[in-house]
Amino acid sequence: MQPLCLNSLLEIQAKQHPDAIAITAPERTPLKYHQLNQHIHQLVATLNICGVGRQDRVAIVLPNGPEMAVAFLAVTVAATSAPLNPAYRAEEFDFYLSDLNAKALIIQAGVAGPARTVAQARGIPIIELQPVLEAEAGIFTLIPTLTSGELNSSKYTSWTQPDDIALVLHTSGTTSRPKIVPLTQNNLCISAHNISSILELSEKDRCLNMMPLFHIHGLIGALLSSLSVGASVVCSLGFNASQFFQWLKIFGPTWYTAVPTMHQAILAHASNHHKIISDCQLRLIRSSSAALPPLVLTELETVFNAPVIEAYGMTEASHQMTSNPLPPRQRKLGSVGIAAGPEIAIMDEVGHLLSAETLGEIVIRGANVTSGYENNPSANQSAFTKGWFRTGDQGYLDSENYLFITGRLKEIINRGGEKISPREIDEALLEHPDILQAVAFAVPHPTLGEDLAAAVVLRDQATLTGPMIREFAFQQLADFKVPSEVVIVDEIPKGATGKLQRIGLAAKLVNQLQRDYVAPRNNLEMLITDIWAEILDIKTLGIHDNFFRLGGDSLRATRVISQLQAFFPIDIPIVTLFMKPTVAELSQLLATSINASDLSTISELVAELDELSDEEAKQLLDKA
Ligand code: AMP
Repeated sequence: MQPLCLNSLLEIQAKQHPDAIAITAPERTPLKYHQLNQHIHQLVATLNICGVGRQDRVAIVLPNGPEMAVAFLAVTVAATSAPLNPAYRAEEFDFYLSDLNAKALIIQAGVAGPARTVAQARGIPIIELQPVLEAEAGIFTLIPTLTSGELNSSKYTSWTQPDDIALVLHTSGTTSRPKIVPLTQNNLCISAHNISSILELSEKDRCLNMMPLFHIHGLIGALLSSLSVGASVVCSLGFNASQFFQWLKIFGPTWYTAVPTMHQAILAHASNHHKIISDCQLRLIRSSSAALPPLVLTELETVFNAPVIEAYGMTEASHQMTSNPLPPRQRKLGSVGIAAGPEIAIMDEVGHLLSAETLGEIVIRGANVTSGYENNPSANQSAFTKGWFRTGDQGYLDSENYLFITGRLKEIINRGGEKISPREIDEALLEHPDILQAVAFAVPHPTLGEDLAAAVVLRDQATLTGPMIREFAFQQLADFKVPSEVVIVDEIPKGATGKLQRIGLAAKLVNQLQRDYVAPRNNLEMLITDIWAEILDIKTLGIHDNFFRLGGDSLRATRVISQLQAFFPIDIPIVTLFMKPTVAELSQLLATSINASDLSTISELVAELDELSDEEAKQLLDKA
């Protein structure tokens, strides 16, 4: 394939399918390819006038949706895009914006937030994005909010070239500081082509995107793979399991791609939507970014009557490395499929390639793979061996070249697809003056695969508790990086060699992760306990047990919150349960917001529940 740039790829599609829909979104008019192309040209001109051109980095912090998709495309055509997670806290934005050396930041007009504050403090010019909601999906204006001179307004006339850096993303890793992964125009276009080829995408396809557009999976796996063949993309505002079925009905997507926790949440809602499912047009369902439990795969195939294609992706590979093929070729349960773009091999520690059925590190090389982390010779030294990139994942190829992932050599935690560098969490916790030592570690979780916990040693005389430390962590870190449990220990357990070993820490701290049983002490605690027991499907739970340790996840948290809200009309955000993950903590918080009449409703309800059999109690709570 000829080296490519995003610009030429979009031009080709605009010529070949001018009136085909490129981007659409809930409650918006669709945007056609010729309109997208024209809009991007205008946006590039605006960016150029603002002084942004080839190789300049523009950070983008926007909510998911059509504007984010088009902003990414326009910045990538004009310069280098650096999308960032809008959920980051100020400390995180401070690190990312300075590490990126961003020339400008694009944010939503009129929205305050830590990204804006940090950019202002750092003197990074802000360009505001003003959506035009009455126009087609993804149409917006860019308004520089600068005093003159902050951006030099020299005009850039040269177009980006295939070797220009198109996208930079940070990746979590073994060090506390995420590393910058630069990906060229050619890397992205090749990767988009690899994905569209294995999925046999064509202009007849329509992808429903629910993946965040600051992550490689959504950007390339859904958006660019579709646009590279003239297909259309429904840009949702983010994942929502109950809305998913409405989107299936309204937009008739032919496929969607998601992480396993999303598929599980969709399955949990499926029984209420038989008609939509039987009418739906799904040609395939794709899963990537974390291991898909085989049971979930088979259930999805049964419910939707469509093949489930599990793929293996990674930021450094511009997303896809392997994928199961479409039928009639074989999909192997538990395998992430065959090489689908780059070459795949298995390597031992000293750099020998291993034969089939032999366990080792998965290595890749090909036109979609980054040429190296930015300004990080030591990381590159260990990441590349004889031209192969070491993924840090462990596995083997079978005799038919299907890849099986068996474990991980790198020190990241994969919390339902969200990658977390445990050292970043250690360092954030160590910012607290009363914490002497902190070690974040993975604990097994039934739906997320891995959840995050931390062990902490306090300084002498310190009186911090686990919940107090979590509260502190919420100020420092985006919600998804906050450990769901913090255990306080006298000493962090060491491995056989006396070295601290993160892997295996969960097994060593199993007693500390378990709570002594304490029965509910009042009606509110009793009600919450009943609701949890029903949703988590367990008989006995104490008020200090952790919801997430008991198998809770965001789907179940949503159910808990909606049942609680059915009993008392107060607004309880979902994050409440994540912030207060024990019955004791949640009930203490709710007690302060519930008035006396609600409390008497609870007493009546608990009395009623006590009189019912388990099955009747379950039905009553379900009805709520
Ligand atoms: P990211 O850079 O966020 O895309 O994360 C890449 C990592 O996600 C890989 O190195 C794997 O550890 C993990 N990963 C991606 N896809 C899968 C999959 N299908 N099964 C298991 N792990 C996966």
